[in-house]
Amino acid sequence: MVNYCPCCGNKIEDNERFCAKCGFSVQTIQEEYSPANNGLSIVGFVLSFFISIAGLIISAIVLHKTPISKRDHAFGKAGLIISIISLVTIILSIIFWIIFYFLILNFAIMY
Ligand SMILES: [Zn+2]
Repeated sequence: MVNYCPCCGNKIEDNERFCAKCGFSVQTIQEEYSPANNGLSIVGFVLSFFISIAGLIISAIVLHKTPISKRDHAFGKAGLIISIISLVTIILSIIFWIIFYFLILNFAIMY
């Protein structure tokens, strides 16, 4: 099997990890299936719904691993986005309830 560098079009041998001409990492474009990493990306994705901080950390770890399959990358990115959204939602609702609490408190004192 002969590959060509997607960056510069140089011919790349099967055993080569990097393009000899431009240094492009060929491994990142190969769909390498790593069961452990794949499981981790799904764990991060699922956790992001329930424990946003844990989901955020695991998704970040998955995204920083190279090589990464397209599926892992998609799960990692989704987990990251969902955990950030749920974290922001939690923080906003805490701020809302603090403001609400003080408003009620002020109202109770006034009357
Ligand atoms: Zn190249």
